[in-house]
Amino acid sequence: MRYSRLLLPTTKETPNDASLASHIYLIRAGLIQSVGGSGLYNFLPLGKKILDKVRAVVKEELDKAGCQEVSLSFVTPSALWDESGRLEKYGKELLRFKDRKDNDFILGPTHEEMMVNLVRQTVKSYKQLPLNLYQINLKFRDEIRPRFGLMRGREFLMKDGYSFHSSTEDMLREFALMEETYKKIFTRLGLEFRVVEADSGAIGGSGSKEFMVLADSGEDTIVVCNDCEYGANIEAATCQPKVYDTHTACKTVIKKALYDEGKSLCVGFVLPQDAELQETKACNSVDANDLIECDTQQSPSIVVIEETLGAAVDPNAFDAEEINYADIVAVQEGDTCAMCGGALRYTKGIEAGHIFQLGTRYSEPMGTHFLDENGKTQPMVMGTYGIGVSRLLAAIIEQNHDDKGCIWTKESAPFALQIIISNIKDDAQVALGEKLYEAMLSLGVDVLLDDRKDRFGAKMSDYELLGVPHAVVIGKNLSEGKVEFVTRKGMSSIEVDADGILDFLRDTL
Ligand SMILES: [Zn+2]
Repeated sequence: MRYSRLLLPTTKETPNDASLASHIYLIRAGLIQSVGGSGLYNFLPLGKKILDKVRAVVKEELDKAGCQEVSLSFVTPSALWDESGRLEKYGKELLRFKDRKDNDFILGPTHEEMMVNLVRQTVKSYKQLPLNLYQINLKFRDEIRPRFGLMRGREFLMKDGYSFHSSTEDMLREFALMEETYKKIFTRLGLEFRVVEADSGAIGGSGSKEFMVLADSGEDTIVVCNDCEYGANIEAATCQPKVYDTHTACKTVIKKALYDEGKSLCVGFVLPQDAELQETKACNSVDANDLIECDTQQSPSIVVIEETLGAAVDPNAFDAEEINYADIVAVQEGDTCAMCGGALRYTKGIEAGHIFQLGTRYSEPMGTHFLDENGKTQPMVMGTYGIGVSRLLAAIIEQNHDDKGCIWTKESAPFALQIIISNIKDDAQVALGEKLYEAMLSLGVDVLLDDRKDRFGAKMSDYELLGVPHAVVIGKNLSEGKVEFVTRKGMSSIEVDADGILDFLRDTL
């Protein structure tokens, strides 16, 4: 590609609403463009090219693992969400609309119902299972406050996959395969990440894992071990149980638990004085939809005691209808790892993938059955697997940038090499630039030739902003038979003989 022909509107101006590096650089490098500041973005040519490269890595690894790509209708009839019970539960983030015949439709943020509907029409026998189907296409979530560019936009490109099985055992096998496949994807994209245990809500169990890209700007707090692989979302993190005696000072935190159809209950959570209530754990312990502040004068109808307190608390001291024990405390920095005894610490991450053991949550209400070997009707057991593909672009930059711009990783870079002709009026520089460009193209190297009439300084600023991993700078030193080979990460450069540059590139790239 010739830079002079490229639509790449780079700018020095930082967008008003941008605070994250990825948001700033994706716009400043001319990769994406905001549409009316409403959490919607256009992808410009090189942004689209990067998105396609990331998409290709995701697709290649999934296909290798035996998954099959489909493309579901973008618009979903509301009736399908009615069947699963999600239409009622989902709030205003679900975009709902009517067609000219007054039929109800939605734009789905995920497509469990659509995929279940596809499979129930086509799969009838255990012989057709297992199946792992996925799609990579646009999803929509009507965020109340879209922000951070591609990190939390309203429209996003997502890979969502769904597997269907004749037994829980087989679903667990696929879940483990997807974990390994996701590791390959994130490793190929050059990301530093952790696989963490996540809160799986009302479904329970350890059936949910998140893939967290480590970055200080991440929105999620994750707990990791200094000595082993252990990692968990703060909402799911556990540590080695502490031992408490009967002299332990305790406190009771009162909350109002909210349930379907406007029901609510007053709940008291009993925990050690120096511990902190983990709201998601607490919410799950009473199967509530949400916890909110409560008038503390009210006496609780349910009391949940932190399980590690055990005999340190006398349950008869409470006048409640129900007393339960559960893990409701937030893991603190310095707590002991339950796996290895090492020290736990907090770090920040960006959620880039999530795999989930779904069981029969959708297949039962939606009547997705198969005939087993004995001719008996059974609901299919499902898993679901997501990757935020457009969000990955932001995550790659959050982890790989400096104060000048993006530093793309090898498999995500818009080009493998940029050739910069310093002075387009210098015939010798142009001749070498053109020769190298043609040679790289014939070798199959994805190369960008900066053949613009602009000043050298502007060209270098754009190079740093765009973040192609390597560049050859053909400048004044060509008169002494030298060119420069630049590596974007660290902006280190070495002098190479102009005569030998082709061989050097052949060996290096
Ligand atoms: Zn550990």
